[in-house]
Amino acid sequence: MSEMLFQGETLCLQSLDNGLVELCFDLQGASVNKFSLQTVSELSQVLTLIESDKGIAGLLIFSAKKTFIVGADITEFSAVFSAGPEHVVAHLAKNNQNFNRIEDLHCPTVVAIAGFALGGGMEFCLACDYRIGSDDAVLGQPEVKLGIIPGWGGTYRLPRLCGLDTAVDWIASGRDQKSDVALKCGVLDAVVAGDQLRRAALHTLNECVAGRFDYTARRKQKSTPLQHCDIEAMLAFESSKAFVAAQAGRHYPAPVAAIKTMQKAAGMLRSQALAVEAEAFAKMAQTEVAQSLVALFVRDQYMSKKAKTLAAQASCSVSRAGILGAGIMGGGVAYQAALRNVPVVMKDVAQLGLNLGLSEAAKILSSRVKRGRMTPDAMAQVLNRIEPTLDYAGISRADLVVEAVVESLDVKASVLAEAEQSLSKGAVLASNTSTISITALAKSLQRPEQFCGMHFFNPVHRMPLVEVIRGEKTTDETIAKTVAFALQLGKKVVVVNDCAGFLINRVLFPYFAGFTMLVRDGADYRHIDKVMQRWGWPMGPAYLLDVVGVDTAEHAEKVITAAYPERMGREFTSCIDLLYQKKRLGQKTGAGFYNYISDTKGKPEQVPADEVFELLRPHVVPRRDFSDDEIITRMMVPMVTELVRCLEEGVVATPAEADMALVYGLGFPPFRGGLFHWLDSMGLKAFCQQADLLSALGPLYKPTDALRNMAAADSRYHDLKVDDKGGVS
Ligand code: NAD
Repeated sequence: MSEMLFQGETLCLQSLDNGLVELCFDLQGASVNKFSLQTVSELSQVLTLIESDKGIAGLLIFSAKKTFIVGADITEFSAVFSAGPEHVVAHLAKNNQNFNRIEDLHCPTVVAIAGFALGGGMEFCLACDYRIGSDDAVLGQPEVKLGIIPGWGGTYRLPRLCGLDTAVDWIASGRDQKSDVALKCGVLDAVVAGDQLRRAALHTLNECVAGRFDYTARRKQKSTPLQHCDIEAMLAFESSKAFVAAQAGRHYPAPVAAIKTMQKAAGMLRSQALAVEAEAFAKMAQTEVAQSLVALFVRDQYMSKKAKTLAAQASCSVSRAGILGAGIMGGGVAYQAALRNVPVVMKDVAQLGLNLGLSEAAKILSSRVKRGRMTPDAMAQVLNRIEPTLDYAGISRADLVVEAVVESLDVKASVLAEAEQSLSKGAVLASNTSTISITALAKSLQRPEQFCGMHFFNPVHRMPLVEVIRGEKTTDETIAKTVAFALQLGKKVVVVNDCAGFLINRVLFPYFAGFTMLVRDGADYRHIDKVMQRWGWPMGPAYLLDVVGVDTAEHAEKVITAAYPERMGREFTSCIDLLYQKKRLGQKTGAGFYNYISDTKGKPEQVPADEVFELLRPHVVPRRDFSDDEIITRMMVPMVTELVRCLEEGVVATPAEADMALVYGLGFPPFRGGLFHWLDSMGLKAFCQQADLLSALGPLYKPTDALRNMAAADSRYHDLKVDDKGGVS
């Protein structure tokens, strides 16, 4: 007869037969277990109970959820981190005591792991004697992705359990590891089918109790210093540090800090090693990078939850999609839908277009097959889900149709009106326009309420964001269905209100305006590229223009500047105009701000293009040096002022969503936490002072009145209150 010995909010303990007890993680009212402060406190109480009963012969640990423990509760991090390093060390110590007590219990411990055991969840498992995983188990120490390192013994126990190389790889990469890999590395002791998990774990525990498995030897393995001769260890640590530093980049110090911690503690016993780990953790927790990454994580959860809540309001899901225009974007959306099991009808006006769309999809799939990520059979199935057509007949069977024809108001208006005739009654029509107002496009439609924007980014299969744009007449049901479809495709979603450029392009073009003014005023665009890349952008603005296509940018710029002439209108011939006139369109023509040659893998490789300087010379002032700070400020101020306007006008609902959208849509450097986060960290007063110094450059450098008021009140954007409707005040 089992008896409940402890019942908490996050875990419980009950007796089993033969002197065994079972600890079960089961966070009340949640779908997953997190290692929260409450869990730490309850675990401590349960351990006291177990320790006090020497009649207990063995401890089985299980999770009542599908997944074991997803990690520490990250929403608690900010408060802990901001209380200072001593507080962080004390916070870690509480649970380290728990884990040490598990490791030192008078009886064997076996943990059964299904689904995720990440971060603190995995560190808990490392403290147990045996780890049995189900075949869907995924383990990992993702702390470096948050700018920190494992703090509950991961850097101490993992290398002792599976060797230095594996531990460095797991901890410094932060990658999830599947059960078969974990088994091979010795992190798991056995892997069984999900329905056999509990039985297998119980069997292991009984073998320990019967003395057939020597659990004390397991403990010894973890409690001794790392077995490596000094030179070998030094080489292993030094080479991995150099490699990891190069991979993580200068803005992400945590992976190297994790390796240094393992190095420092390699010859130490547990208590000393844990103290070293805690000190390094606390140091990392105080960095701006960790604070930014933790904040981003929390905002990402907010964004995802909001999208899921919206999607849940859709009356039905999309079981068949339609695409109009089989170009780069149409082909990309068709591929993504087919990959995610949604059949698509793809329509174009020309067979050539259809061939292009299909070959684009086939190209991406082939590369998946080549990398062993897909079987040829699965590739064929995905391709079979795309039905190419030259007429509208197939479109009538779609629940949602994405229009991705050329970027022209007239063409789009007529294609949309034509398509609407063939659509079934409840179907949603969405445009992938990059710049044209959704409300303006809706004027050509009879059912504007069933129309919205669905802005994908190029390349569709790689770029995580979709902007869903609400036109003046778009209904909630239309938005819900479109958001649900974007989630079906595995995308991150931000819902924005209509305006020219929407959110992402509306803030990108002021940034390009900052760039063209810098070039006009004598800056070397190669220098600008270097500075902005060092600042953290994936690429500098000139290179980005080459990748996007100078013609695409020129066209979009025209539409966006026409919409905001008072701020974005300009009276000089810009470097974008000049390149466009000379048909230097970027990578697609092999020449833009840079020249491009194909490397051995056929990828465009950047080479200098001196002729561009000749082309620019008559239109720019003589070259002069700009400091890095000057370049950064001149580039970033226009982006900030425009983003602030987007928030004030309700184009984007919250600073959290704005920050996430820029990270996912533009690659804004995550370690800076998002554009509003960066602005808050700098301080609004300091920002206004910087902007005022540049006021001669025009209205894009002018902070709004509301921003100035917030600066005067020492406010922060991320402290704004979000009301029931999602707006901020
Ligand atoms: P593209 O020129 O590659 O493809 C356009 C396709 O539309 C062509 O295959 C053309 O044959 C087809 N088409 C033209 N008229 C049509 C009609 N009446 N019916 C059906 N098909 C028709 O263009 P793209 O780059 O894929 O851009 C498509 C849309 O996506 C544009 O609105 C663009 O602004 C937007 N967009 C493009 C990017 C990008 O980087 N390329 C990024 C985001 C959004």
